Amino acid sequence: MNNIRGILIGRMQPVHNGHIQVINKILEEVDEIIIGIGSAQLSHELKDPFTAGERIVMMSQALAEMDIDPKRYYIIPMEDINFNAIWPSHVKMMTPPFSIVYSGNPLVKQLFNEEGFEVRQPPLYDRLHLSGTEVRRRILEDENWQELVPKATANLILEVNGVERLKNLSVKEVSDI
Ligand code: NAD
Repeated sequence: MNNIRGILIGRMQPVHNGHIQVINKILEEVDEIIIGIGSAQLSHELKDPFTAGERIVMMSQALAEMDIDPKRYYIIPMEDINFNAIWPSHVKMMTPPFSIVYSGNPLVKQLFNEEGFEVRQPPLYDRLHLSGTEVRRRILEDENWQELVPKATANLILEVNGVERLKNLSVKEVSDI
């Protein structure tokens, strides 16, 4: 029998505990999950500070921490394209075949719905705190961001001097008078 595959695409800037909880939940429903690292071309921006490669390390090591069988997931960087209407085809071309799309993002849901995919909305876990926006805000404000992310994410951010990177990105250029 064919494996049932689901896909979850997210910017994961950075990977946080909400992403890991939702992946665990999806793995109760499908045999394999495709994890798309979205907007892979973006990095070194306030909203998108980490490279696709850094986000892949965060994700793969976080899943290893959770003892999730590596045969059950694929981690694939996905660049954005300018054409929303053909984005689902672009995603299909870059990934193993899948039948279920998991997303809480209204645009992602809309686009895959229109292509006839089954779209499921996974539960949101503590969305007030478990969001990339909140993690990045806490990093900038020197608050406790580590409690919101897997150890793997914290280690990677420290390894690449991610706190300093984010703070530098937040400094507005002061023009000469
Ligand atoms: P995200 O990292 O904010 O979220 C990823 C997924 O994780 C979402 O489905 C979200 O519901 C889930 N999630 C986040 N926090 C959670 C929590 N606390 N509990 C449970 N689940 C949680 O990323 P996103 O913004 O949804 O990413 C969509 C990606 O698709 C982006 O990279 C976007 O650019 C890309 N996209 C590209 C095109 C195009 O290229 N034309 C079109 C549409 C979308």
